[in-house]
Amino acid sequence: MEKYTLIRQNRRTISMRLDKDGNITVFLPARLPAADADRFIEEHARWLSRKRQELAARAPLPAIEGKEGEHVPFLGEEYVVRLWNKRRVFLGQGEIFLPENDPLKGLIRFYRRRLKEFLLPLVCSYAAKAGVSPQRLSVGSARTRWGSCSGGNALTFSFRLAMCAPFVVEYVVVHELCHILHKNHSPAFWQAVGTYFPAYREAKQYLRQKNYFMEIL
Ligand SMILES: [Zn+2]
Repeated sequence: MEKYTLIRQNRRTISMRLDKDGNITVFLPARLPAADADRFIEEHARWLSRKRQELAARAPLPAIEGKEGEHVPFLGEEYVVRLWNKRRVFLGQGEIFLPENDPLKGLIRFYRRRLKEFLLPLVCSYAAKAGVSPQRLSVGSARTRWGSCSGGNALTFSFRLAMCAPFVVEYVVVHELCHILHKNHSPAFWQAVGTYFPAYREAKQYLRQKNYFMEIL
């Protein structure tokens, strides 16, 4: 059984909070027995384990600074930063060469360009499979979402998606394309995602674990 702090309140429903240190507080309506709090926690075991995973994934790495010898992710692989006196970015064997005068700007430019190149054929092939026509493809700098699909079916992806493994990029493409069919996260939407990308649960799990990519650059 989970340990938790019970707070009785003049309220109508039970609620629960998990703070950033992993402590659970249950807020119980004054009239309910304490056993209801135990049951509430048992019923929310999956929610708790998911929240704990998210907590564990929160920025275990320091922010990317663009320093010589630092490790940066690209399409699921780690590259060692080498600074050089050229303006362009070059991806070598296990190494990424960044411009010494502004390495982070160079890295972001690289992520944007290479992500777009990677996305284009994926979007085309999955759009054909799903029989949908996205109106536009762009790479933005959102920190709160990996991808989005506008009301007019324009697709936007965060450049930070370039840090993720290729199969995850593929999942996000399928996810956003399926929003052309369903503008929600209904069971019908997830069924469509599963049809075109059966491994979507693994990809969602990966994104939860790598959510800190959103914060390190
Ligand atoms: Zn969505």
